Amino acid sequence: MKKILFIDRDGTLILEPPTDFQVDSLEKLTFYPKVFKNLGRIGEQLDYTLVMITNQDGLGTPSFPEENFWPAHQKMMQAFENEGIHFEAVHIDRSFEHENAPTRKPRTGLLTAYLNNPAYDLEHSFVIGDRFTDMELAANLGCRAILMQDPSREWHFPKPETEEVVDLISADWDEVYAFLQDLENMHPALERRAKVQRKTLETDILVELHLDGEGKYHHQTGLGFFDHMLDQVAKHARLDLSIKVKGDLHIDEHHTIEDTALALGEAFAKALGNKKGIERYGFALLPMDEALAQVALDFSGRPWLVWQVGFQREKVGDFPTEMAFHFFKSFADAARCNLNIQAQGQNDHHLIEVIFKAFARSLRTALRRDPHHRDLPSTKGVL
Ligand SMILES: [Mg+2]
Repeated sequence: MKKILFIDRDGTLILEPPTDFQVDSLEKLTFYPKVFKNLGRIGEQLDYTLVMITNQDGLGTPSFPEENFWPAHQKMMQAFENEGIHFEAVHIDRSFEHENAPTRKPRTGLLTAYLNNPAYDLEHSFVIGDRFTDMELAANLGCRAILMQDPSREWHFPKPETEEVVDLISADWDEVYAFLQDLENMHPALERRAKVQRKTLETDILVELHLDGEGKYHHQTGLGFFDHMLDQVAKHARLDLSIKVKGDLHIDEHHTIEDTALALGEAFAKALGNKKGIERYGFALLPMDEALAQVALDFSGRPWLVWQVGFQREKVGDFPTEMAFHFFKSFADAARCNLNIQAQGQNDHHLIEVIFKAFARSLRTALRRDPHHRDLPSTKGVL
């Protein structure tokens, strides 16, 4: 699906003449500062189709003759093409405001081809313009908006639903580019996936992770109880996870569990990427029958494990209870996260399982992203 930038012309791509608002001569053609550099970068680096949408009051009438309009317009279009900036379509409405034409912004008459069309992803498209009518157009199209105005001024939107669609107010094309670039980095279509293959003389591991998955899993570690715990992670963190391990189980379970945790942690670090927009922190308090687990985690970039859990048995099924600590220690090291785990209970099976479930629920919160708050959750500027 195509994402579109519906871009207003006057006041956005070129400056609007302050007295009569008409660019009706070559002398009145002045480009908006930094528009070439940034539209060029948007075209080259980002996944948007450019569409121009402009109201030209009374174009073709004596108040705005065609011969006064086209030379400046064509000069502008040629300048953009020369810089490699291509508009897929240019829509011009010629009516006067008082005519209330269905084609005039903020109405969508000129843009019906984009509406209810599965080829276009309007939800992640933007209108960029300098007037409230441009913002209203965005609301009518069901897309988002960028208002090209001075953000230090107080703006009173005539319609509250119009203000809701505005994600950025800026008079600087550098900022518009940076905003769109950041947004693209965390676009839902840009899925957070990682594949990690880890091969040593002791183990051969393939981890496939999709953080924005649905809780699907497939685990073959050779250890039934461990598979069952990894299933809990995928299910309750609602991520897709597949882990295949050929481990030296003829020796014991140690390398298989430790190396799986290292590969899994590495996959998380990889899939998280720049961490922009993530919740970062997650915590859960979960019961399972008589057992209770408290897990808090922070994708801080600094590995740490606090572990306050005591077991009574040596093994649960084919899983040595001492390896529970080792699993989470290795995961925290490789994922570079802070994990704080405390749990109590009588039944060691319950105890381990509730820890894995609480870990999963903490992951689910910490991994969550908000596409409209794209900053890094850190005052330090890096995680
Ligand atoms: Mg305008």
